[in-house]
Amino acid sequence: MAIKKISLIVPCYNEGATLPELVQQVSKNLDPLDVDWKLILINDGSKDNTGEVIERLATENESVQGILFSRNFGKESAMLAGLKYATGDAAIIMDADLQHPPEILPKLIQTMDETGADQVVARRNRKGDSWLRSTLSRFYYWFSNKMVEDIELVDGSGDFRILSWRAVDTLLALDERSRFSKGLFSWIGYPTVYIEYENRQRVHGESAWSFRSLFNYGLDGVISFNAKPLRVVAGFGAVIFGLSLIYFLWLIINWAFYGVETPGYITTIAAIIAFSGIQLLALGVIGEYVGRIYSEVKQRPHYVVWKEVGF
Ligand code: UDP
Ligand code: MG
Repeated sequence: MAIKKISLIVPCYNEGATLPELVQQVSKNLDPLDVDWKLILINDGSKDNTGEVIERLATENESVQGILFSRNFGKESAMLAGLKYATGDAAIIMDADLQHPPEILPKLIQTMDETGADQVVARRNRKGDSWLRSTLSRFYYWFSNKMVEDIELVDGSGDFRILSWRAVDTLLALDERSRFSKGLFSWIGYPTVYIEYENRQRVHGESAWSFRSLFNYGLDGVISFNAKPLRVVAGFGAVIFGLSLIYFLWLIINWAFYGVETPGYITTIAAIIAFSGIQLLALGVIGEYVGRIYSEVKQRPHYVVWKEVGF
């Protein structure tokens, strides 16, 4: 199947300075190809002039369209909006900050054309990332792949990818509130091909991800997918229970052979602390799930659109 028409989905948060260059580079790389393309820029409630820049670009350039959110809803919601507005044979998701190099776009499209895969993922290496950051991410991928069943997260493969219309439709059918795209992409399956590119640093502005938001994102990834963490906590409880039974038996035997032994302040305190800790942990994990059920049940929309330009 030859790809004739594609939509590019770009979530933008405080990217006013980069967008003109992004549009230019995308045109430069896609115009020589025989495809009809639309660039959908989603302003995710930016604090800078991103909204105005998008409106201007959309009026100047036929191929640019803008969706302006009423406030910041997060990148996941922006991507979802883009997928809903996307038309054509395939959709490409990329970042606005030029860290997802537009030079790769032709290769993404070609690879999809040649292999017929439903997802072609541009996977970055970690060159130039700090040691701490890459070690933490490696640990995270190891940990989350242990905690999450039936999907596999691949280090360095993010949202930068091209999806067939079939994959887009399937993604849209997953209507959950706490979206974790990395997992969803893997969950839908379909033939997937990876291509690699050199990691690069941001040109303008700074990453909106603090360590704290990355941590929350990571937690989402592990928890939003299945109930395995609940089982792990239950298993943990069972192990502790087993150990305490053994300890109890040992105390009884000791008592039978050597008589009453009163001192036990340290063991008592240790037991109290250990058990309250485990109970709080288990409660926390359950609470996470209850919170998610609450937000699913409310069925609020994922985002609110304030304005559409160029549609
Ligand atoms: N982004 C967004 N909403 C947010 C935060 C980020 O739409 O609340 C966009 C941002 O404009 C960029 C992409 O998501 O296009 C990736 O963000 P960033 O570059 O900050 O993340 P990193 O590259 O560090 O993963
Ligand atoms: Mg970035």
